[in-house]
Amino acid sequence: MTVTTKIEKLIRKHPCYNKNAKDYGRIHLPVAPKCNVLCNFCNRKYDCSNESRPGVTSQVLTPKEAALKTIFYREKLPYLTVAGIAGPGDPLANAEKTRQTFNLIRKIYPDMHLCLSTNGLSLPENIDWIEKLGIKHVTVTVNGIDPAIVENIYSFAVKDGKVYKNREMAELIIENQIKGIRKLLSRNILVKVNTVMIPGINDNHIIEIGKFMKELGIYIYNVIPMIPVEGTVFWKKGIKKTPQKEKLKKIKNELEKLGLKIMNHCGRCRADAVGRVRGEQKRKNKFITVASSN
Ligand code: SF4
Ligand code: SF4
Repeated sequence: MTVTTKIEKLIRKHPCYNKNAKDYGRIHLPVAPKCNVLCNFCNRKYDCSNESRPGVTSQVLTPKEAALKTIFYREKLPYLTVAGIAGPGDPLANAEKTRQTFNLIRKIYPDMHLCLSTNGLSLPENIDWIEKLGIKHVTVTVNGIDPAIVENIYSFAVKDGKVYKNREMAELIIENQIKGIRKLLSRNILVKVNTVMIPGINDNHIIEIGKFMKELGIYIYNVIPMIPVEGTVFWKKGIKKTPQKEKLKKIKNELEKLGLKIMNHCGRCRADAVGRVRGEQKRKNKFITVASSN
């Protein structure tokens, strides 16, 4: 099988990696409550903004409950072809629960795509089991590649029991994200990179991130406008504006000119979303879930 055929096979029934796969759907399994960083745009009372959606998950599930939920919905909605874990914290800060959940789903539905979303801090050390379980779609949120910018985006990071802050934290996050992405790509895993666009913080840095991601060889790039949420570090600092649509459009156009595949149909879903993906424009502030997790 050629590389192109292999990729086509991987995206044919994945509605996030392929906008033409809109007849298929995904189930997000909220099994990962903890996080190993604090993003300044995140309010943990709400959700994981790895997918930048300040909605809520109705409840955190155990791996067994997540498997039962998948069976329940897959019987009702046979078009569900993707099982993903995207929070409400970071899936790899809850690596064992995430691994167990995927393991169960893999056994029950060998044909389902398994999909993971992470801030990347704990990515390098988790890639062996990710590959072994046949997870072929991983999203990494990279909000900057310059430590001077990144240190303004996170308040702290925790790795191997040590708390990191400021420049040291920024360098650690960037190093692990890049190392993780390189490793994923070397194992033929499709990588989607998300960047949360934060006005006045990283909005003028996104082209640089995109260029670097293109060089690394990611599959698709998704720029997500920050949704200001009360109670976040940014909110307290007075950073409350949503990015301008025109600026976002201009950035995406420039990124496309660089030859990057750009995601324009992200629904910024909840950590417990189930169903087909509906793009941002059509969403009109409604959650796109067809059901909550109970
Ligand atoms: Fe919140 Fe996700 Fe950032 Fe963790 S990685 S702080 S859950 S947005
Ligand atoms: Fe797909 Fe975006 Fe929804 Fe994630 S948040 S499941 S990438 S549409």
